Amino acid sequence: MTRVLIASIYHEVNHFSPGVTTIEDFQRLGWALGADSLVRGKGRDQAAGAASVAREEGVDLVAILFAQAGSGPPVTDSAYAAIREIVLGAIREHRESLDGIYLSLHGAMATESLTDPEGALLAEVREIVGPDLPVAASFDLHCHFTALMARSADILVGFETCPHVDFFTTGQRAMRLLVRSIRGEPAPVVRYRKIRMTASSEHHDTRRGPMHEVMVRRKELERRPGILDISVFATQPWFDAPEVGWSTVVIAAPDALAPDAAANAQQCADELGEMLWARRERFRVRKTPVDQVLAAVREARAAGEERPIVASEGADSTSAGSTGDGVDTLRALVEAGATIDALVPVADPVAAAACFAAGVDATVDMEVGGRLSPGFHRPLRVTGRVATLCDGRYRSKYPPFPTDAGPTAVLAIGAIRLVITSRPAYLLDLELFKRAGLDPVAAELVVVKSAGGYREFYEPIAAQVFDIDTTGPADSDLTRLPFRRLDHPLWPFEADLQQPW
Ligand SMILES: [Zn+2]
Repeated sequence: MTRVLIASIYHEVNHFSPGVTTIEDFQRLGWALGADSLVRGKGRDQAAGAASVAREEGVDLVAILFAQAGSGPPVTDSAYAAIREIVLGAIREHRESLDGIYLSLHGAMATESLTDPEGALLAEVREIVGPDLPVAASFDLHCHFTALMARSADILVGFETCPHVDFFTTGQRAMRLLVRSIRGEPAPVVRYRKIRMTASSEHHDTRRGPMHEVMVRRKELERRPGILDISVFATQPWFDAPEVGWSTVVIAAPDALAPDAAANAQQCADELGEMLWARRERFRVRKTPVDQVLAAVREARAAGEERPIVASEGADSTSAGSTGDGVDTLRALVEAGATIDALVPVADPVAAAACFAAGVDATVDMEVGGRLSPGFHRPLRVTGRVATLCDGRYRSKYPPFPTDAGPTAVLAIGAIRLVITSRPAYLLDLELFKRAGLDPVAAELVVVKSAGGYREFYEPIAAQVFDIDTTGPADSDLTRLPFRRLDHPLWPFEADLQQPW
Protein backbone atom coordinates (compact mmCIF):
# COMPACT_ATOMS: atom_id res chain seq x y z
CA MET A 1 0.00 0.00 0.00
CA THR A 2 1.27 3.45 -0.93
CA ARG A 3 1.33 5.77 2.09
CA VAL A 4 1.25 9.57 2.04
CA LEU A 5 1.46 11.81 5.10
CA ILE A 6 -0.79 14.88 4.95
CA ALA A 7 -1.01 18.03 7.09
CA SER A 8 -2.89 21.34 6.57
CA ILE A 9 -1.62 24.62 8.05
CA TYR A 10 -3.24 27.94 7.15
CA HIS A 11 -2.31 31.42 8.29
CA GLU A 12 -1.93 34.60 6.25
CA VAL A 13 0.02 37.42 7.83
CA ASN A 14 -0.76 41.10 7.62
CA HIS A 15 2.43 42.72 8.91
CA PHE A 16 0.60 45.99 9.68
CA SER A 17 -1.98 44.33 11.90
CA PRO A 18 -0.98 44.87 15.55
CA GLY A 19 -0.46 42.00 18.01
CA VAL A 20 0.30 38.33 17.43
CA THR A 21 -1.55 35.18 16.39
CA THR A 22 -1.38 32.58 19.17
CA ILE A 23 -1.90 28.85 19.43
CA GLU A 24 -5.24 29.66 21.10
CA ASP A 25 -6.26 31.51 17.91
CA PHE A 26 -5.54 28.34 15.90
CA GLN A 27 -7.44 26.25 18.45
CA ARG A 28 -10.44 28.61 18.34
CA LEU A 29 -10.56 29.03 14.54
CA GLY A 30 -9.68 25.55 13.31
CA TRP A 31 -7.70 22.78 14.94
CA ALA A 32 -7.83 19.00 14.55
CA LEU A 33 -5.34 16.19 15.00
CA GLY A 34 -5.08 12.73 13.43
CA ALA A 35 -7.98 11.36 11.40
CA ASP A 36 -10.19 14.31 12.48
CA SER A 37 -7.92 16.64 10.51
CA LEU A 38 -9.09 15.05 7.23
CA VAL A 39 -12.73 15.97 7.85
CA ARG A 40 -12.25 19.35 9.56
CA GLY A 41 -12.79 21.09 6.20
CA LYS A 42 -16.27 19.50 5.86
CA GLY A 43 -15.31 17.66 2.68
CA ARG A 44 -14.57 20.86 0.75
CA ASP A 45 -10.92 21.62 1.50
CA GLN A 46 -7.62 20.59 -0.07
CA ALA A 47 -7.31 17.57 2.22
CA ALA A 48 -10.73 16.33 1.06
CA GLY A 49 -9.64 16.75 -2.57
CA ALA A 50 -6.42 14.84 -1.85
CA ALA A 51 -8.41 12.12 -0.09
CA SER A 52 -10.66 11.68 -3.13
CA VAL A 53 -7.61 11.03 -5.32
CA ALA A 54 -6.10 8.78 -2.64
CA ARG A 55 -9.25 6.61 -2.70
CA GLU A 56 -9.13 6.31 -6.52
CA GLU A 57 -5.43 5.50 -6.49
CA GLY A 58 -5.38 3.14 -3.51
CA VAL A 59 -3.25 5.47 -1.40
CA ASP A 60 -3.36 5.28 2.39
CA LEU A 61 -3.33 8.76 3.95
CA VAL A 62 -1.61 9.34 7.28
CA ALA A 63 -3.47 12.45 8.46
CA ILE A 64 -1.63 14.54 11.04
CA LEU A 65 -2.97 18.07 11.52
CA PHE A 66 -5.45 20.73 10.45
CA ALA A 67 -4.53 24.17 11.81
CA GLN A 68 -6.31 27.33 10.61
CA ALA A 69 -5.88 30.85 11.98
CA GLY A 70 -7.25 32.99 9.11
CA SER A 71 -5.59 36.34 8.37
CA GLY A 72 -3.90 38.49 10.98
CA PRO A 73 -0.68 39.49 12.72
CA PRO A 74 2.44 37.25 12.83
CA VAL A 75 2.21 33.85 14.50
CA THR A 76 4.01 33.62 17.84
CA ASP A 77 7.29 31.71 17.74
CA SER A 78 5.89 29.29 20.32
CA ALA A 79 2.76 28.51 18.24
CA TYR A 80 4.89 27.89 15.17
CA ALA A 81 7.25 25.69 17.20
CA ALA A 82 4.30 23.59 18.40
CA ILE A 83 2.91 23.15 14.86
CA ARG A 84 6.37 22.44 13.44
CA GLU A 85 7.00 19.77 16.07
CA ILE A 86 3.67 18.03 15.38
CA VAL A 87 4.46 17.83 11.65
CA LEU A 88 8.16 17.01 11.80
CA GLY A 89 7.66 14.60 14.73
CA ALA A 90 5.06 12.66 12.73
CA ILE A 91 7.31 12.55 9.66
CA ARG A 92 10.19 11.18 11.78
CA GLU A 93 7.87 8.63 13.37
CA HIS A 94 6.43 7.36 10.06
CA ARG A 95 9.50 7.97 7.88
CA GLU A 96 10.20 4.32 7.03
CA SER A 97 6.66 3.57 5.85
CA LEU A 98 6.06 6.77 3.83
CA ASP A 99 6.08 7.06 0.02
CA GLY A 100 5.28 10.76 -0.13
CA ILE A 101 4.34 13.89 1.80
CA TYR A 102 1.70 16.52 1.09
CA LEU A 103 1.59 19.77 3.06
CA SER A 104 -1.43 21.96 2.30
CA LEU A 105 -0.31 25.48 3.24
CA HIS A 106 -1.38 29.08 2.74
CA GLY A 107 2.08 30.24 1.72
CA ALA A 108 1.91 33.70 3.33
CA MET A 109 2.46 32.83 6.97
CA ALA A 110 5.00 34.78 8.97
CA THR A 111 6.06 34.32 12.57
CA GLU A 112 7.55 36.76 15.06
CA SER A 113 11.04 35.71 13.89
CA LEU A 114 10.58 34.20 10.41
CA THR A 115 9.35 35.71 7.15
CA ASP A 116 9.29 32.34 5.35
CA PRO A 117 8.29 29.73 7.94
CA GLU A 118 6.60 27.57 5.30
CA GLY A 119 9.75 27.48 3.17
CA ALA A 120 11.71 26.66 6.34
CA LEU A 121 9.26 23.87 7.22
CA LEU A 122 9.49 22.34 3.72
CA ALA A 123 13.31 22.54 3.94
CA GLU A 124 13.25 20.69 7.27
CA VAL A 125 10.92 18.06 5.80
CA ARG A 126 13.37 17.60 2.93
CA GLU A 127 16.24 17.25 5.37
CA ILE A 128 14.43 14.46 7.25
CA VAL A 129 13.22 12.48 4.22
CA GLY A 130 16.25 12.96 1.96
CA PRO A 131 16.36 13.96 -1.70
CA ASP A 132 14.31 11.09 -3.18
CA LEU A 133 11.00 11.00 -1.33
CA PRO A 134 8.43 13.08 -3.29
CA VAL A 135 7.19 16.13 -1.38
CA ALA A 136 4.16 18.14 -2.54
CA ALA A 137 2.85 21.46 -1.25
CA SER A 138 -0.17 23.51 -2.22
CA PHE A 139 -0.80 27.18 -1.59
CA ASP A 140 -3.32 30.02 -1.68
CA LEU A 141 -3.16 32.31 -4.74
CA HIS A 142 -1.75 34.90 -2.29
CA CYS A 143 1.30 32.79 -1.45
CA HIS A 144 4.60 34.61 -0.81
CA PHE A 145 6.51 32.20 -3.03
CA THR A 146 10.20 31.84 -2.19
CA ALA A 147 13.33 30.21 -3.61
CA LEU A 148 13.49 28.04 -0.48
CA MET A 149 10.02 26.61 -1.23
CA ALA A 150 11.04 25.89 -4.83
CA ARG A 151 14.22 24.14 -3.68
CA SER A 152 12.54 22.07 -0.98
CA ALA A 153 9.44 20.55 -2.67
CA ASP A 154 9.00 18.61 -5.91
CA ILE A 155 5.43 19.69 -6.51
CA LEU A 156 4.13 23.20 -5.81
CA VAL A 157 0.62 24.18 -6.87
CA GLY A 158 -1.68 27.10 -6.08
CA PHE A 159 -5.34 28.11 -6.29
CA GLU A 160 -6.52 29.12 -9.76
CA THR A 161 -9.47 31.20 -8.53
CA CYS A 162 -9.98 34.51 -6.71
CA PRO A 163 -12.35 34.76 -4.88
CA HIS A 164 -11.01 31.33 -3.90
CA VAL A 165 -13.41 28.50 -4.59
CA ASP A 166 -11.07 25.72 -5.79
CA PHE A 167 -9.90 24.31 -2.45
CA PHE A 168 -10.97 20.76 -3.31
CA THR A 169 -9.54 20.63 -6.84
CA THR A 170 -6.24 22.19 -5.67
CA GLY A 171 -5.85 19.25 -3.28
CA GLN A 172 -6.64 16.91 -6.16
CA ARG A 173 -4.01 18.52 -8.41
CA ALA A 174 -1.33 18.23 -5.73
CA MET A 175 -2.20 14.63 -4.93
CA ARG A 176 -2.37 13.50 -8.57
CA LEU A 177 1.08 14.93 -9.25
CA LEU A 178 2.41 13.38 -6.05
CA VAL A 179 1.04 9.94 -6.95
CA ARG A 180 2.53 10.33 -10.42
CA SER A 181 5.97 10.94 -8.89
CA ILE A 182 5.59 8.09 -6.40
CA ARG A 183 4.76 5.71 -9.27
CA GLY A 184 8.13 6.54 -10.83
CA GLU A 185 7.09 8.53 -13.88
CA PRO A 186 9.81 10.91 -15.13
CA ALA A 187 10.69 13.28 -12.29
CA PRO A 188 9.09 16.71 -12.75
CA VAL A 189 11.11 19.91 -12.77
CA VAL A 190 9.90 23.16 -11.22
CA ARG A 191 10.80 26.50 -12.79
CA TYR A 192 9.51 29.84 -11.66
CA ARG A 193 9.80 33.53 -12.33
CA LYS A 194 9.65 36.25 -9.68
CA ILE A 195 8.25 39.51 -11.05
CA ARG A 196 9.20 42.84 -9.48
CA MET A 197 5.59 43.86 -8.82
CA THR A 198 2.97 43.68 -6.10
CA ALA A 199 -0.57 45.06 -5.90
CA SER A 200 -3.54 45.19 -3.56
CA SER A 201 -6.25 42.52 -3.89
CA GLU A 202 -9.07 44.51 -5.50
CA HIS A 203 -8.16 43.44 -9.05
CA HIS A 204 -6.91 39.91 -8.33
CA ASP A 205 -10.34 38.65 -9.44
CA THR A 206 -9.80 35.75 -11.85
CA ARG A 207 -13.30 36.11 -13.34
CA ARG A 208 -12.70 39.46 -15.03
CA GLY A 209 -9.99 41.95 -15.93
CA PRO A 210 -6.23 41.47 -16.14
CA MET A 211 -6.00 38.41 -13.88
CA HIS A 212 -8.68 36.65 -15.90
CA GLU A 213 -6.67 37.22 -19.08
CA VAL A 214 -3.54 35.76 -17.51
CA MET A 215 -5.45 32.75 -16.17
CA VAL A 216 -6.95 32.03 -19.63
CA ARG A 217 -3.43 31.93 -21.09
CA ARG A 218 -2.29 29.77 -18.16
CA LYS A 219 -4.90 27.16 -19.10
CA GLU A 220 -3.72 27.20 -22.75
CA LEU A 221 -0.09 26.74 -21.69
CA GLU A 222 -1.04 23.82 -19.43
CA ARG A 223 -2.11 21.94 -22.57
CA ARG A 224 1.40 22.16 -24.06
CA PRO A 225 3.35 18.88 -24.32
CA GLY A 226 5.30 18.23 -21.12
CA ILE A 227 3.55 20.88 -18.98
CA LEU A 228 1.96 19.29 -15.90
CA ASP A 229 0.75 22.27 -13.89
CA ILE A 230 1.02 26.07 -13.70
CA SER A 231 0.39 28.44 -10.78
CA VAL A 232 0.22 32.22 -10.66
CA PHE A 233 0.89 33.75 -7.24
CA ALA A 234 -0.31 37.31 -6.55
CA THR A 235 1.49 37.74 -3.24
CA GLN A 236 -0.43 38.76 -0.10
CA PRO A 237 0.01 42.56 -0.53
CA TRP A 238 0.57 43.37 3.18
CA PHE A 239 3.52 41.02 3.57
CA ASP A 240 6.69 42.86 4.58
CA ALA A 241 9.66 40.64 3.73
CA PRO A 242 12.57 40.24 1.34
CA GLU A 243 11.70 38.41 -1.91
CA VAL A 244 8.16 39.85 -2.05
CA GLY A 245 6.90 39.94 -5.64
CA TRP A 246 4.41 38.06 -7.79
CA SER A 247 5.47 34.65 -9.11
CA THR A 248 4.64 32.20 -11.85
CA VAL A 249 5.47 28.55 -11.16
CA VAL A 250 5.52 25.79 -13.77
CA ILE A 251 5.91 22.03 -13.31
CA ALA A 252 7.02 20.08 -16.38
CA ALA A 253 8.30 16.63 -17.28
CA PRO A 254 10.32 15.52 -20.31
CA ASP A 255 8.08 14.75 -23.27
CA ALA A 256 8.87 13.41 -26.75
CA LEU A 257 7.69 16.73 -28.21
CA ALA A 258 9.40 18.84 -25.50
CA PRO A 259 12.41 16.89 -24.23
CA ASP A 260 13.99 19.84 -22.38
CA ALA A 261 11.48 20.10 -19.49
CA ALA A 262 13.40 22.86 -17.72
CA ALA A 263 13.46 25.11 -20.80
CA ASN A 264 9.81 24.35 -21.51
CA ALA A 265 8.79 25.24 -17.94
CA GLN A 266 10.88 28.41 -17.80
CA GLN A 267 9.47 29.63 -21.10
CA CYS A 268 5.90 29.30 -19.80
CA ALA A 269 6.79 30.96 -16.47
CA ASP A 270 8.41 33.87 -18.29
CA GLU A 271 5.54 34.34 -20.74
CA LEU A 272 2.99 34.59 -17.90
CA GLY A 273 5.36 36.85 -15.96
CA GLU A 274 5.57 39.19 -18.96
CA MET A 275 1.78 39.21 -19.19
CA LEU A 276 1.39 40.23 -15.53
CA TRP A 277 4.04 42.92 -15.86
CA ALA A 278 2.47 44.36 -19.02
CA ARG A 279 -0.84 44.69 -17.15
CA ARG A 280 0.58 46.19 -13.94
CA GLU A 281 -1.11 49.59 -14.26
CA ARG A 282 -4.46 47.81 -14.50
CA PHE A 283 -3.87 46.29 -11.06
CA ARG A 284 -3.72 49.79 -9.53
CA VAL A 285 -6.70 50.49 -7.31
CA ARG A 286 -8.67 53.70 -7.59
CA LYS A 287 -11.04 54.33 -4.69
CA THR A 288 -13.91 56.71 -4.09
CA PRO A 289 -13.83 59.42 -1.37
CA VAL A 290 -16.48 58.80 1.29
CA ASP A 291 -18.40 62.06 0.58
CA GLN A 292 -18.91 60.93 -3.03
CA VAL A 293 -20.33 57.63 -1.76
CA LEU A 294 -22.80 59.50 0.49
CA ALA A 295 -23.76 61.75 -2.43
CA ALA A 296 -24.46 58.63 -4.52
CA VAL A 297 -26.73 57.30 -1.75
CA ARG A 298 -28.72 60.57 -1.72
CA GLU A 299 -29.01 60.51 -5.52
CA ALA A 300 -30.21 56.91 -5.43
CA ARG A 301 -32.81 57.84 -2.80
CA ALA A 302 -34.01 60.80 -4.91
CA ALA A 303 -34.33 58.53 -7.93
CA GLY A 304 -36.47 56.06 -5.98
CA GLU A 305 -33.84 53.29 -6.08
CA GLU A 306 -34.88 50.40 -3.84
CA ARG A 307 -31.68 48.40 -3.82
CA PRO A 308 -28.87 49.40 -1.42
CA ILE A 309 -25.57 51.01 -2.26
CA VAL A 310 -22.76 48.80 -0.95
CA ALA A 311 -19.46 50.41 -0.01
CA SER A 312 -16.36 48.60 1.22
CA GLU A 313 -13.64 49.88 3.54
CA GLY A 314 -11.08 47.55 1.95
CA ALA A 315 -8.20 49.12 3.90
CA ASP A 316 -9.81 47.69 7.04
CA SER A 317 -10.55 44.30 5.44
CA THR A 318 -10.76 41.69 8.18
CA SER A 319 -10.23 38.91 5.65
CA ALA A 320 -6.94 40.63 4.72
CA GLY A 321 -5.77 40.63 8.33
CA SER A 322 -7.02 44.08 9.36
CA THR A 323 -8.78 44.59 12.66
CA GLY A 324 -12.20 45.87 11.56
CA ASP A 325 -12.14 48.83 13.97
CA GLY A 326 -11.97 51.65 11.41
CA VAL A 327 -14.83 54.17 11.63
CA ASP A 328 -14.08 56.58 8.77
CA THR A 329 -17.39 55.98 6.97
CA LEU A 330 -19.32 56.01 10.26
CA ARG A 331 -17.72 59.37 11.10
CA ALA A 332 -18.82 60.82 7.75
CA LEU A 333 -22.36 59.45 8.23
CA VAL A 334 -22.65 60.92 11.75
CA GLU A 335 -21.20 64.27 10.64
CA ALA A 336 -23.76 64.33 7.82
CA GLY A 337 -26.58 64.12 10.39
CA ALA A 338 -27.06 60.32 10.67
CA THR A 339 -30.02 60.49 8.27
CA ILE A 340 -28.91 57.70 5.90
CA ASP A 341 -30.39 54.27 6.66
CA ALA A 342 -26.97 52.59 6.84
CA LEU A 343 -25.70 49.28 8.21
CA VAL A 344 -22.13 49.74 9.49
CA PRO A 345 -19.93 47.09 11.17
CA VAL A 346 -17.15 47.75 13.68
CA ALA A 347 -15.06 45.47 15.91
CA ASP A 348 -14.76 46.89 19.43
CA PRO A 349 -14.90 44.61 22.49
CA VAL A 350 -15.11 47.54 24.94
CA ALA A 351 -18.02 49.23 23.16
CA ALA A 352 -19.83 45.87 22.75
CA ALA A 353 -19.44 45.21 26.50
CA ALA A 354 -20.77 48.70 27.30
CA CYS A 355 -23.91 47.97 25.25
CA PHE A 356 -24.40 44.64 27.02
CA ALA A 357 -23.96 46.35 30.42
CA ALA A 358 -26.51 49.05 29.51
CA GLY A 359 -29.09 46.61 28.08
CA VAL A 360 -31.61 46.79 25.25
CA ASP A 361 -33.30 50.20 24.79
CA ALA A 362 -30.73 51.98 26.97
CA THR A 363 -29.05 55.10 25.60
CA VAL A 364 -25.27 54.97 25.62
CA ASP A 365 -22.74 57.70 25.01
CA MET A 366 -19.29 56.28 24.28
CA GLU A 367 -16.28 56.06 21.98
CA VAL A 368 -16.25 53.36 19.30
CA GLY A 369 -13.51 52.06 17.02
CA GLY A 370 -9.80 52.78 16.89
CA ARG A 371 -9.03 50.43 19.78
CA LEU A 372 -7.43 47.51 17.92
CA SER A 373 -5.31 49.38 15.34
CA PRO A 374 -4.73 52.75 17.00
CA GLY A 375 -1.85 53.37 14.59
CA PHE A 376 -4.40 53.64 11.74
CA HIS A 377 -7.80 54.40 13.26
CA ARG A 378 -9.16 57.11 15.59
CA PRO A 379 -12.14 56.46 17.89
CA LEU A 380 -15.44 58.28 17.34
CA ARG A 381 -17.73 59.55 20.11
CA VAL A 382 -21.34 58.47 19.49
CA THR A 383 -24.67 58.55 21.28
CA GLY A 384 -27.18 55.86 20.42
CA ARG A 385 -29.84 53.44 21.61
CA VAL A 386 -29.01 49.77 22.12
CA ALA A 387 -31.38 48.12 19.64
CA THR A 388 -30.48 44.43 19.95
CA LEU A 389 -27.91 42.13 21.57
CA CYS A 390 -26.83 38.68 20.32
CA ASP A 391 -24.08 36.10 20.83
CA GLY A 392 -22.40 36.79 17.46
CA ARG A 393 -22.38 33.12 16.49
CA TYR A 394 -23.48 32.28 12.98
CA ARG A 395 -22.55 30.26 9.92
CA SER A 396 -20.72 32.41 7.41
CA LYS A 397 -20.99 31.62 3.69
CA TYR A 398 -17.42 32.63 2.98
CA PRO A 399 -15.51 30.94 4.38
CA PRO A 400 -18.22 28.28 4.80
CA PHE A 401 -17.59 27.66 8.49
CA PRO A 402 -19.13 28.52 11.84
CA THR A 403 -18.08 32.02 12.94
CA ASP A 404 -17.92 33.46 16.45
CA ALA A 405 -17.73 37.26 16.40
CA GLY A 406 -18.27 37.32 20.18
CA PRO A 407 -21.06 39.26 21.96
CA THR A 408 -22.51 41.58 19.33
CA ALA A 409 -24.68 44.68 19.78
CA VAL A 410 -26.66 46.80 17.34
CA LEU A 411 -26.56 50.49 18.27
CA ALA A 412 -29.07 52.80 16.57
CA ILE A 413 -27.53 56.22 15.92
CA GLY A 414 -30.22 58.20 14.12
CA ALA A 415 -30.97 56.15 11.00
CA ILE A 416 -27.62 54.32 11.26
CA ARG A 417 -27.46 50.78 12.67
CA LEU A 418 -23.94 50.18 13.98
CA VAL A 419 -23.14 46.47 14.40
CA ILE A 420 -20.51 46.23 17.15
CA THR A 421 -18.74 42.83 17.33
CA SER A 422 -16.36 41.83 20.12
CA ARG A 423 -13.91 40.28 17.65
CA PRO A 424 -12.99 41.10 14.05
CA ALA A 425 -15.29 39.03 11.81
CA TYR A 426 -14.96 38.37 8.09
CA LEU A 427 -17.30 40.74 6.21
CA LEU A 428 -17.56 39.26 2.74
CA ASP A 429 -21.14 37.94 2.96
CA LEU A 430 -24.42 39.17 4.47
CA GLU A 431 -24.53 36.71 7.36
CA LEU A 432 -23.32 38.90 10.27
CA PHE A 433 -26.02 41.48 9.50
CA LYS A 434 -28.66 38.76 9.29
CA ARG A 435 -27.53 37.28 12.60
CA ALA A 436 -27.92 40.73 14.15
CA GLY A 437 -31.52 40.80 12.91
CA LEU A 438 -30.86 43.30 10.11
CA ASP A 439 -31.83 43.13 6.44
CA PRO A 440 -29.04 44.41 4.15
CA VAL A 441 -31.34 44.29 1.11
CA ALA A 442 -33.68 46.86 2.70
CA ALA A 443 -30.97 49.37 3.75
CA GLU A 444 -29.95 52.46 1.78
CA LEU A 445 -26.24 51.87 2.42
CA VAL A 446 -24.37 48.75 3.55
CA VAL A 447 -20.76 49.16 4.65
CA VAL A 448 -18.49 46.09 4.54
CA LYS A 449 -14.77 45.56 5.12
CA SER A 450 -13.29 43.46 2.32
CA ALA A 451 -10.76 44.16 -0.42
CA GLY A 452 -12.76 42.49 -3.17
CA GLY A 453 -14.33 39.16 -2.18
CA TYR A 454 -17.52 40.91 -0.98
CA ARG A 455 -18.50 41.56 -4.59
CA GLU A 456 -19.41 37.90 -5.01
CA PHE A 457 -22.17 38.31 -2.39
CA TYR A 458 -23.12 41.98 -2.62
CA GLU A 459 -23.15 42.79 -6.33
CA PRO A 460 -26.31 40.71 -6.85
CA ILE A 461 -28.24 42.83 -4.30
CA ALA A 462 -26.62 46.26 -4.84
CA ALA A 463 -27.68 49.20 -7.00
CA GLN A 464 -24.02 50.26 -7.04
CA VAL A 465 -20.79 49.09 -5.38
CA PHE A 466 -17.96 51.37 -4.23
CA ASP A 467 -14.51 50.83 -2.78
CA ILE A 468 -14.15 53.68 -0.28
CA ASP A 469 -10.85 55.51 0.13
CA THR A 470 -9.97 55.00 3.81
CA THR A 471 -6.77 54.00 5.59
CA GLY A 472 -5.90 50.86 7.53
CA PRO A 473 -3.54 47.88 7.75
CA ALA A 474 -4.87 46.62 4.37
CA ASP A 475 -4.54 49.94 2.52
CA SER A 476 -4.69 49.40 -1.25
CA ASP A 477 -2.17 52.21 -1.76
CA LEU A 478 0.83 50.16 -0.66
CA THR A 479 3.16 53.15 -0.95
CA ARG A 480 1.34 54.72 2.07
CA LEU A 481 2.30 51.81 4.35
CA PRO A 482 5.50 51.59 6.48
CA PHE A 483 7.18 48.65 4.69
CA ARG A 484 10.74 48.02 6.00
CA ARG A 485 11.99 44.74 4.56
CA LEU A 486 11.04 44.67 0.86
CA ASP A 487 13.66 44.05 -1.81
CA HIS A 488 13.77 47.02 -4.16
CA PRO A 489 13.29 47.98 -6.92
CA LEU A 490 9.65 46.84 -6.74
CA TRP A 491 6.65 48.26 -8.59
CA PRO A 492 4.64 50.34 -7.55
CA PHE A 493 7.19 51.68 -5.03
CA GLU A 494 9.49 52.44 -7.95
CA ALA A 495 6.74 53.48 -10.34
CA ASP A 496 9.11 54.03 -13.31
CA LEU A 497 10.68 50.59 -13.10
CA GLN A 498 11.11 49.17 -16.60
CA GLN A 499 12.60 45.70 -15.94
CA PRO A 500 10.09 43.01 -14.87
CA TRP A 501 12.90 40.93 -13.27
ZN1 LIG B 1 -5.95 34.42 -0.86
